[in-house]
Amino acid sequence: MKQSKYFIPTLKEAPSDALIPSHILMLRAGLVRQLASGIFSFLPLGYKIKKKVIEILRREMDAIGGQEFLLPALNPIDIWEQTGRVEAMGDVMFHIKNREGLVLAPTHEEIITYHARQHVKSYRDMPQIWYQIQNKFRNEPRPKSGVLRGRQFTMKDSYSLDATFEGLNESYEFHRTAYQKIFDSIGLKYFIVSASSGAMGGRQSEEFMVESDSGEDTCAVCDDCGYAANFEIATSDVEPVGRIQSDDHYEEFATPNAKTINELIVQFNLTEDQCAKSVVYIVDSAPVLIFMRGNDEMNETKLQSIFKTNQVRPAEADELVKYFGASTGSLGPINIPTKIKVIADLRLKDANGLVSGANKDGYHFKNIDFIRDCNINEYHDLRTVSAGEKCSKCGSALRVVKAIELGHIFKLGTKYSEALGAHFLDAAGAEHPIIMGSYGIGVERIIACYIEQNYDDHGIIWKKALTPFQVHLIGLNFTKSPETAEVSERIYKRLTDAGWEVLFDDRTDSPGIKFNDADLIGIPVQIICGPKNISQGKVEVKIRHNNERSTVDEAEIELILSEFYK
Ligand code: ATP
Ligand code: MG
Repeated sequence: MKQSKYFIPTLKEAPSDALIPSHILMLRAGLVRQLASGIFSFLPLGYKIKKKVIEILRREMDAIGGQEFLLPALNPIDIWEQTGRVEAMGDVMFHIKNREGLVLAPTHEEIITYHARQHVKSYRDMPQIWYQIQNKFRNEPRPKSGVLRGRQFTMKDSYSLDATFEGLNESYEFHRTAYQKIFDSIGLKYFIVSASSGAMGGRQSEEFMVESDSGEDTCAVCDDCGYAANFEIATSDVEPVGRIQSDDHYEEFATPNAKTINELIVQFNLTEDQCAKSVVYIVDSAPVLIFMRGNDEMNETKLQSIFKTNQVRPAEADELVKYFGASTGSLGPINIPTKIKVIADLRLKDANGLVSGANKDGYHFKNIDFIRDCNINEYHDLRTVSAGEKCSKCGSALRVVKAIELGHIFKLGTKYSEALGAHFLDAAGAEHPIIMGSYGIGVERIIACYIEQNYDDHGIIWKKALTPFQVHLIGLNFTKSPETAEVSERIYKRLTDAGWEVLFDDRTDSPGIKFNDADLIGIPVQIICGPKNISQGKVEVKIRHNNERSTVDEAEIELILSEFYK
């Protein structure tokens, strides 16, 4: 491809709303342009990279027996209503205004299940792995990270249909291995975390994450044993509060200026272990009083999984007064005026000698014994982990890192097949819902994550798998040196004829502009044809990632390329 005829609008500076490296570099290298918030056009160079990603995804999906579909992005809303996901998706789903009854698909579990219901009737029809590589539409609030979070983006989504849970496990493992191959072959550094399955519902789920300051997810990782989990469900090994030697009866004391745990600690010379912080949540419209130790933070996702609902929210001030006759900072486990479910974090299990609110503004109780004085209905792991806490597997210190989700694998089970009535008959003629899995990878996210991990001050650094071209042939000073133009053309033709993907910078721009563009675009091997070298039958080879340069005979070029790309 001759660069003089190829549309690569590189930029010296990115627009000021581009904040993260991948966004900045994708704009500067002329890969994409933003059309509107969260909506991107892929320009020729960017689209070439995108097609390379898609090829790799297709190769690995085909290798595990996947069959490629292409499902419509425009979906009848009633199928989505039957699974309750119009409500669950809320504003994320785009609704069509001038054609009622249609929505733009944010994912495709429903449509897959719809087709399975029509044709997958017997255990003999399974297993199936169905996949597609197609656009998804999600009305993401305030997308600000470039193609990492688009309102329209391309996903490789696959779905497994099985007659048994053993079958599902196998389909899931196929995907897990395929995902590892995909990310390894691209050269991405990633880790796998157990995850909460959020609005999707279902059983086991894991996410493939890339550590990055640009990430919107938070994970706890252990560098020693490899434990990694999404912050939403991560656990750590922390000391329980336990019991102290004391039979003292609980006793009210005035705390007019202590609304927070820290104020209590400072004013009354307490430790965090002595404080049972009350938190009130409304879970499916009923209040739940929750106790955490000291400043330990309650984790809403853990609460959701305990109560098996995503309808949880902190109680409002007027609700606290209604249920407790007191406000935040004065709530506690004794003398609760209404019948309310009370749960506590495992760290407080059976503890005593505690201080907590008296359900009377401006007062607390001390010497509270959770066994003797309170009716704690249940203890659960409700804590959010913090950096430095001990890994519950190996005891080393956990790191808490920002990360980007690249892919997600779910064991859905029968949630969708039950909701949509997709049943099959087993060998004995009994009817069961189809057992499903769902597996997604964001195509643009792969590109952006790759760039987040592979760039320097000059630009992007591609490796073999995704590079848009294998060789950047850079010709210099053609107008002054017709010989250089002629030899560069000859090298270009020879390499292209031999099947190499060559970007040939035959523009009339200055060497400086050409070198800057080449480093910005980041093709792994640059071959520089300048008049001096050419007059001696030589060219300069520059390896982008380590800036290694060598002057070689023109005849050696192909050998060097074969060596680099073997
Ligand atoms: P996130 O938590 O980042 O919103 P998600 O849990 O909604 O992701 P899934 O529904 O599991 O994502 O989608 C599968 C994959 O699709 C994700 O792992 C990610 O790579 C990609 N993806 C999801 N949302 C977007 C988006 N708005 N833009 C680009 N890629 C996305
Ligand atoms: Mg999302």
